[in-house]
Amino acid sequence: MLAHLVPPDVGRPIHWIDRIEPAPPEVLASFHHPEYLRSVEVASGQDDPILLDRGDTPSFPGCYEAAARIAAGADRAYSLVSERGRPAFHPAGGLHHAHPDRASGFCIFNDLAIVIARAIREHRRVAYIDIDAHHGDGVMYGFYRSGQVLDIDFHQDGRTLFPGTGFPHESGRGDGGGLKVNVPLPPGAGDEALRPLFRRIVPPLVRAYRPDLIILQHGVDGHANDALAQLQYTPSAYSEIDRTVLALAQEVAHGRLLVTGGGGYRAASVSRVLARAGAIFAGIGPPDDASPTPTDWRHEFEETFGEPAPRIWAEPVPADPSPWGAEDESRLVKELETRLGQRFPGPS
Ligand SMILES: [Zn+2]
Repeated sequence: MLAHLVPPDVGRPIHWIDRIEPAPPEVLASFHHPEYLRSVEVASGQDDPILLDRGDTPSFPGCYEAAARIAAGADRAYSLVSERGRPAFHPAGGLHHAHPDRASGFCIFNDLAIVIARAIREHRRVAYIDIDAHHGDGVMYGFYRSGQVLDIDFHQDGRTLFPGTGFPHESGRGDGGGLKVNVPLPPGAGDEALRPLFRRIVPPLVRAYRPDLIILQHGVDGHANDALAQLQYTPSAYSEIDRTVLALAQEVAHGRLLVTGGGGYRAASVSRVLARAGAIFAGIGPPDDASPTPTDWRHEFEETFGEPAPRIWAEPVPADPSPWGAEDESRLVKELETRLGQRFPGPS
C-alpha cells in the first residue's frame, strides 16, 4: 500500500495506490547481487521454507514476488516525491536490514537501499533518518562510503539488541566520513531521551547537509507497548518527530519526503501511530485523542488479528521507568560531537 499525500488546502485528494506489480530484476539489482536474487527466486518457488540468512528470515512460497512488490512501492513513492515535491507514505516498506547478498531480520529486499541507489544515480543527496528500535545496518553499511547519503539512526544499543551494530564510532569512511550518525539508547529509554536528542541532532545536520530528498524509516517497534525491543517511546514523541521531519523537508528539500514503515509487532500500536503519521504528512493533523476509531477499520482489525480493536485514538502507555538522565545525554552528544567534528546546540 502506498499513499501519495497531498495537503487538502491544495484542493486535490490523497492519492492511494493499493496494488503494485513486483519490481523488475534490474531495479532489485541496483542494490542486490544477481546470485542472491536467483537464490531467493528458487526458494520462493518451493513449498518447504529455507533460511535466507543466518536464522531469522525463512523463505515462503511467493516470497520473491512479495518482497519485490514492496521494493516497487518504494520505487513508485520515490518517483511521486521527485515529480511532485510532496510527501509519499509507503507503510509496507522500510526493510532496512537486508544486505546486498543476504536477507536479515525479516527483510528480504532492502526497498530503502534500492531507492537510495536510484537517488545516487540521479545525482541527488539523501538525508536518511531511521527511528526503528533496531539499527538500520543494511542501509548504513550499504552506503558507508557514500558522500551522497547522510544517515542518522536512533536505535536501542547494539550491545542489547539485534543486529548488534550502530555505534557512535561508526561514522562513515572516505566521502561518507562523518555522514553516518548513530545514536544508540539504552534499554528502557523513552521520550525523554529521544525527543531532546532528535531536536538537537537532526535539524542542524540536515540543514547543513542540504539534501534533495529526505527518507524517514518510521519503525514503530520502539513503542512503549511493543515487546520485541525495550524502548519506551510514546505516540506523542512519534508525532513530534513527524512534524519536525515534514517541516525540514519543506524547508531544505523542496518538500521531497519519502516515509516508510518498518518494525512494529503490536497491531494496536502500529496501526494508530502510522495512521497519525499519515495524517500529519497529509497536512490534516492527527485525530483528536478522545475521538473514536473508524467502525469499518475496527471490523477489519478484529477479523485480521482476532483481538478487540482500539475504540479510540488515545493509547495508554506504562509509566516511564527510563534509566536515561541529563548526564547520559551530554555524554552521548559529546561523543557524537567528537566523532563528527560538529557542535550541537544546547538542550531545549
Ligand atoms: Zn525493528
